[in-house]
Amino acid sequence: MISDKIITKVLSSIRPGELIELASELVRINTVWDPAAGTSEQPAADLVAEWAGKEGFSFQMDEVAPGRSNVIIRFPGGPGEKSLIFEGHTDVVTPGDVSAWIHDPFGAEIKEGRMYGRGTNDTKGNLAAMLMAMSAIKRSGVMPNGNIIGAVLCDEEDQMLGVLDFIKKGHADRATAAVICEPQDGLVCNTQKGAIRARFEIAGRMSHGAMPLSGLNTAPAVSALIQGLMDLEKAAIESVGRDEHLGWPSYTPTVVQSPCSGPAQLNVMPGKSCLLADIRTIPGQSHEKIRSELTHLAAEVEQKSISDFEIFDRRIHIHRDRSLRIKVEFLTDRPCTLTAREDPIVQSAVWASRQISGKVPEYAGVPGATDGTFLWSMKNIPLVIMGAGDREVPHQVDEWVDLDQLVNTAKIYALTALHYLQ
Ligand SMILES: [Zn+2]
Repeated sequence: MISDKIITKVLSSIRPGELIELASELVRINTVWDPAAGTSEQPAADLVAEWAGKEGFSFQMDEVAPGRSNVIIRFPGGPGEKSLIFEGHTDVVTPGDVSAWIHDPFGAEIKEGRMYGRGTNDTKGNLAAMLMAMSAIKRSGVMPNGNIIGAVLCDEEDQMLGVLDFIKKGHADRATAAVICEPQDGLVCNTQKGAIRARFEIAGRMSHGAMPLSGLNTAPAVSALIQGLMDLEKAAIESVGRDEHLGWPSYTPTVVQSPCSGPAQLNVMPGKSCLLADIRTIPGQSHEKIRSELTHLAAEVEQKSISDFEIFDRRIHIHRDRSLRIKVEFLTDRPCTLTAREDPIVQSAVWASRQISGKVPEYAGVPGATDGTFLWSMKNIPLVIMGAGDREVPHQVDEWVDLDQLVNTAKIYALTALHYLQ
């Protein structure tokens, strides 16, 4: 039980003006990873490090790649066994066509209770909220019974190098739970979809479009692979069904390229074609099984294509090299995560949300992957994903966050930590 006195003490240490100022400062830094333009997460990491120093936290800056750093903030508490990670990322996706924006993407403009700009929603607002939550606890003098680790990570939007480095350097070794600070509109998300991204490369033989028999066309194999993916999707839907929060599993062919590189020409039958598939999974599916199904699909289509060529060639009495080859490569493999509702971190998040909003929060799932995916799969860390911001707004033009919701989020984070580390 946490007394009302302690709750009031911590909540009154959350200063909305400071939180909004910190969020604005982060949003005003363009942290799109773009070496050509000279932008990276580094200035945001520097800002966070400076803030952590000012607040009296011990911290370390880990360079993950040149110009890309994580900041790890330590808040040692009482002797309890538990250790809680707050995770937020500093990178943002590109604003795209800036002329499509009404608000300056890096202006952090505030209008009618909303802050606009790239990262306001995903996830610099929530990053500021988690930092504010940590400093509110510290300033209040209330000692959590266990440690809090602030993980301010780079490269969440692309390869997740930040969280991989965080794990590699041992920062997650003693963690017993994590709060992933991402825009989930006040929902408590205890599950998220997994992802496998596969690239099929079909190697045939290039030829003149008027003399296709002098080459080996890759197009029929591309079509067979797409059909194979659809069949696998259907089978997955039938076997695992629909997840209450995550919906259906999907096997989506997203990119078809023929030729794989260079210009396509109407009178040239390309020698190589590529197919990318974005597979999203839900609990109950085995990634190992999916990978072996995809490998099997590639082999099966390869064999069938060669045998179709043979039958055809025999019929018209021609001889040619029919060695079509299909290889599959896995670009990403991130399992889905599911933390039980009974888990202490989920219970703490629910309790804290209820304290602030006055109602029982809804459970939900995250359709995309977050840094939490690796904390869960590589370190078995139970997690909740929660934060301020409409769930559809990330990566859109005129991205925004509601400032009242952001302030409440900082309060929810702080109380979650207090409740979890009792
Ligand atoms: Zn994010």
